[in-house]
Amino acid sequence: MSSFDNDDLVDFGFVDISPTQKTARVHDIFANVAPHYDKMNDAMSLGVHRVWKSTCITKMNPRPQEILLDIAGGTGDLARQFLTRTASYARRKGYGVSHGDPYAGAQAFIVDINESMLRAGLNKTRKRTLRGTPKMPLIYICANAETLPFKAGFADVASLAFGVRNITNKDKALRSIWQSLKPGGRFFCVEFSQPDASTAPQAWRSLYEMYSFNIIPSLGGIVASNREGYQYLVESIRRFPAPYLFAKQIENAGFVRVGKHSLSGGICHLYWGWKV
Ligand code: SAM
Repeated sequence: MSSFDNDDLVDFGFVDISPTQKTARVHDIFANVAPHYDKMNDAMSLGVHRVWKSTCITKMNPRPQEILLDIAGGTGDLARQFLTRTASYARRKGYGVSHGDPYAGAQAFIVDINESMLRAGLNKTRKRTLRGTPKMPLIYICANAETLPFKAGFADVASLAFGVRNITNKDKALRSIWQSLKPGGRFFCVEFSQPDASTAPQAWRSLYEMYSFNIIPSLGGIVASNREGYQYLVESIRRFPAPYLFAKQIENAGFVRVGKHSLSGGICHLYWGWKV
């Protein structure tokens, strides 16, 4: 297990700063981009982030009565997909229909350190409800992933999409997630990675490099009025551990049967692990 003092430096893109400074700077970025966050996700990934999230939910295989913790959940895409998928499973199997609960007892907690991101997600959910989606059992919690406010063994499933790179003490957060899960609980993480020779041909890697450093920050400036935030995004991907090392970190937090799967030629990875 690793821990660090406030004197140790941590990565913030290509620079190293104190843990307190990283938490504050990450907070400022997301407070700033929150109103444009979803638009920017679609623009920079050409909508592919939806496919990655959907792949994660398919692997998660949600079931009625389950409780999900969507950690660093931001505007709540995964939490809503979890409930939508549970509802379609329940419809197919005839669960909960007699009780008038389309989500068959499933519940999702969206946990994020940033109130502005949670607020943007709340507005998105409200718009869907106004358009006719049955009211979703979503609970919004403003908390740090490193010190989750749940009793041990509270949840069936936890997800962490594109959040772990931004968390100051990743080991502490992974242990806190492990602690919050029931025995038999499962954990899924989606995170950007750098394509390498094992996942993609040279041409794809060069294109990715050019797109990351030349297009994404400019797009961030245009769509989210925050070029620096998206410069940090591409730099933080370079500083993130290689997939096999991050899988090891998940294992070190206590998870077993840890696995990983490369998506879109290695631009992104899906990780999973079980608590026994
Ligand atoms: N999961 C969402 C998605 O896939 O669209 C949002 C991902 S967004 C790139 C990263 C999120 O991590 C931000 O909403 C940020 O506030 C949150 N975050 C960063 N550090 C955190 C921490 N220590 N605890 C909880 N959330 C954190």
